[in-house]
Amino acid sequence: MRLSVIGCGYLGAVHAAAMASIGHEVVGIDVDERKITSLSKGDAPFFEPGLQEILTEGISSGRLSFTTDMSAAQGAKVHFIGVGTPQQAGGYAADLTYVNAAVDGLLPYLSEGDLVAGKSTVPVGTAANLAGRVAETGATLVWNPEFLREGWAVQDTVDPDRLVAGVPSEDGHPTTEGERCADVLREVYHTAIAKDTPFIVTDYATAELVKVSANAFLATKISFINAMAEIAEVTGADVTTLADAIGHDARIGRKFLGAGIGFGGGCLPKDIRAFSARAEELGKGESVAFLREVDAINLRRRDRAVDLAVTALGGTVYNKNVTVLGAAFKPHSDDIRDSPALDVAVRLHGLGAKVTVTDPAAIENARRIHPQLDYVEDRDQALTGADAVIVVTEWDEWRRDLDPAHAATLVTGKIVIDGRNCLDATAWRSAGFEYHGMGRP
Ligand code: NAD
Repeated sequence: MRLSVIGCGYLGAVHAAAMASIGHEVVGIDVDERKITSLSKGDAPFFEPGLQEILTEGISSGRLSFTTDMSAAQGAKVHFIGVGTPQQAGGYAADLTYVNAAVDGLLPYLSEGDLVAGKSTVPVGTAANLAGRVAETGATLVWNPEFLREGWAVQDTVDPDRLVAGVPSEDGHPTTEGERCADVLREVYHTAIAKDTPFIVTDYATAELVKVSANAFLATKISFINAMAEIAEVTGADVTTLADAIGHDARIGRKFLGAGIGFGGGCLPKDIRAFSARAEELGKGESVAFLREVDAINLRRRDRAVDLAVTALGGTVYNKNVTVLGAAFKPHSDDIRDSPALDVAVRLHGLGAKVTVTDPAAIENARRIHPQLDYVEDRDQALTGADAVIVVTEWDEWRRDLDPAHAATLVTGKIVIDGRNCLDATAWRSAGFEYHGMGRP
């Protein structure tokens, strides 16, 4: 099938390449010339495992192309919208400028029977507002939220755990046109459908809410365990043992119960804030009032990591060499949007520490936004001479591959702050380090 993907960032570039990899003919369109030039040459403009391979394969097969020219969308049967929906400047709500611009830019190139499939994460009610504009062209709007995890984006796109299609509906049931749209999406995702991936057909509002409620739940789970870490810190309890113990209950589960410096990235923080703002507009602010707490707990953990460093270094980090292991908001990604790791690094720098940051993928992005920090590619070089080491992104490079006995030969001060509770505390202590975890004695 011929497809277009409008917006070629972390979501859209992967979506375009993944759709080409399952046999579709795809054009990716973005306003960012630098990104399009790179993608057109078959160079992934950001780090995402597996993307480079499917990009190269797609370009050489002739099924995948990229352009800044929106008219290239003409002739595609389904047009995916994957542009950004960042937090508004000066507010909590989502900024829909890019979604509106993408849809308006696409309208002249739509044909009777086309589908416009929104993938961006939007406040509930957005699709209903856009549907009329799309319908005037003879095309139909559907909302097809995306659940990919950065670091696993290719796998999650090709082989998702569920697919959700918000289609035109009446009285809670898809209209005839809605059923047709669902069938077109089944054809798009034919490989996943063949594997019996759950395919949920619903109305616009439910589809939009599935996405934001999933992220609200995940954020709540992380902040829940971080709240337990705060209690553990004043009682001498160990939050990791607590998480293991409650995680054995199948109703709770161990995933997303890793206490640490909390969540960040281009999705969870802005999505829970946008959800709060939208609920307020709907007169239901109190229904998700807990999300404000979820956000506040999350941000407090960054303060806690900084406080641990200050205390461990004797009350001040001024002029101390602090090595920060990690810059990306999570491992297997170069994404630094709202990264707790960089936030901690920047705060320590603000307190006068001589901060050296290393990260396997995100140095270039981090340097662009925070040029005031020192960046070192080589992990061992970064550790050399450190008065304290702080782990802020749980990359395997230090979680699994760094021998504390080796680290001990490089550093000046044997202090390690495990902001992700991902190190083997016993091994680090055995190597002579003063080990500080989050919510652990
Ligand atoms: P991103 O910033 O990486 O990419 C957005 C892209 O849209 C940019 O390349 C930008 O240049 C482009 N763009 C903006 N306006 C445009 C226009 N008018 N026409 C064409 N292109 C335009 O953002 P992202 O992380 O890919 O997120 C995109 C959307 O997907 C957001 O709503 C996000 O919440 C959602 N989402 C993201 C993820 C994720 O893991 N990144 C997962 C699920 C959902």
